Amino acid sequence: MQTYSGKPVFSGIAIGQIRILRKEEKNVFRSHVDNVEQETVRLERAVAEADDQLKKLYGKALLEVGESGAAIFEVHQMMLADQDYQESILNIIRTQQVNAEYAVAVTADNFADMFATMDDAYMKERAADVRDISERLISVLTEEEKETVNANVPTIIVAEDLSPSETVQMDKKNVRSFVTRHGSSNSHTAILARTMNVPALIGLDYDEGMDGKKAIVDGFKGTLIVEPDEDVLAQYEEMAAKEEAKRLLLQELKGKETVTQGGRKIRLYANIGGIGDLQSVMGNDAAGIGLFRSEFLYLEKEDYPTEDEQFKIYRSVAETMAGRTVIIRTLDIGADKQIGYFGLEKEENPAMGYRAIRICLKRTDIFKTQLRALYRASAYGKIGIMFPMIISVDEVRRIKEIVEEVKQGLTEDGIAYGDVELGVMIETPAAVMISEELAAEVDFFSIGTNDLTQYTLAIDRQNAKLDDIYDAHHPAVLRMIKMVIDNGHKGGAWVGICGELGADLTLTDTFVEMGVDELSVSPSCILPVRKKIREHQ
Ligand code: PEP
Ligand code: MG
Repeated sequence: MQTYSGKPVFSGIAIGQIRILRKEEKNVFRSHVDNVEQETVRLERAVAEADDQLKKLYGKALLEVGESGAAIFEVHQMMLADQDYQESILNIIRTQQVNAEYAVAVTADNFADMFATMDDAYMKERAADVRDISERLISVLTEEEKETVNANVPTIIVAEDLSPSETVQMDKKNVRSFVTRHGSSNSHTAILARTMNVPALIGLDYDEGMDGKKAIVDGFKGTLIVEPDEDVLAQYEEMAAKEEAKRLLLQELKGKETVTQGGRKIRLYANIGGIGDLQSVMGNDAAGIGLFRSEFLYLEKEDYPTEDEQFKIYRSVAETMAGRTVIIRTLDIGADKQIGYFGLEKEENPAMGYRAIRICLKRTDIFKTQLRALYRASAYGKIGIMFPMIISVDEVRRIKEIVEEVKQGLTEDGIAYGDVELGVMIETPAAVMISEELAAEVDFFSIGTNDLTQYTLAIDRQNAKLDDIYDAHHPAVLRMIKMVIDNGHKGGAWVGICGELGADLTLTDTFVEMGVDELSVSPSCILPVRKKIREHQ
């Protein structure tokens, strides 16, 4: 038995057989071609075929993971059509009189190296994409099939990293977990694991020898146990059975009200990052969406999403939720969420820097585009909008002026919109201290405990070294929550919690007693929190 450690990006227990996915090492030979024109025609045909494959993958991904998850294949189509990319390949074919496969492989290396040396994290990740499209092109040229997974036993996929096209092509029926050496918490692997509700680990240093062996993934501890001893396996089988039993038991709470024994109703909403999470929202019977992190929509794009692109996504969420509340948070980038095309400068202290509403109030063009899309979508459901990282009443007043301009523009254009509740996130100590004044300006508060803890305790939430003292249960944080609830109510605003603490079952009773109106948690936490609230005396 051997235990390996990684970083869990989604919890759970999985038991299965390891399947290491190796990128095919394609031996792309360099060969001389006499007829250069014929070779360029070969390339042209291969590009058309690869483009066709990507179109089909987009359609498949759209059904499996929704529009935002499928968008990567549109990005791949764009990269494939990129003039610089194609010209580089053609140039190598013509000047060196070589085969198209070789020219594609060289271009892939050059472009990937260029992306990899960029400072921007988003652009760095594009190196993997350019390799992905080039491999596809080489496959078409050599008529090779990519390695696909058609596992018929419970399988743990282990890989260096997983590209979106690899995961979409996979037959995932028997996939029980993903483990990768690279990737980040926001990687496609993590998003997919969350969507499929299977545990996933990243940053795990595996060795090839484990291929085909039986193993356990502990997505709570972040471990991969290869060839477990009998007693360890029995222990985990019991744990997995308990997890499953808990899950089934909780299913009975579907369709039931989230109400305390004393008859107090709490709104129990879900946090989502995109349209792909909606299936899980519905499956777990959330009463609404309390936090749609709209920045994921921007993160998945190569360029600013247009008003129409955004509108379609917001409308689709509103329609799917069929009259239930959908609270969408406006763009919250900066700090850990960097987007290359925004061209933001590197900062000494990004968590306290140019981020979220601070960017929106300077780049009002971007802000207005998003607000127009949101208001247009409000004609199709019950939309609420909230603004992140607020520190002053002036900011809120400025936001409201911009909102009015946007509404007026829509009216002038004859475009319908509905009634929209406006709220602010309370995630800075400043917002807590002025919450009474803020309450007079808005319809609701949503407490972002992840950032509120970071700013109250002066502990960077990304710093793994400080994980042990990043204490969201600190009395200072809990007192602030109480203060915000009281001040919100005094000023006529309802108050929810959308940070991770909202799903902390050890605090559910406390929050109910404090008078919280809404809790917004990740979809898989809905039913456990409902159970806790229904037990509250
Ligand atoms: C928070 O800060 O608690 C929050 C919900 O927002 P995010 O985690 O996206 O910063
Ligand atoms: Mg936050």
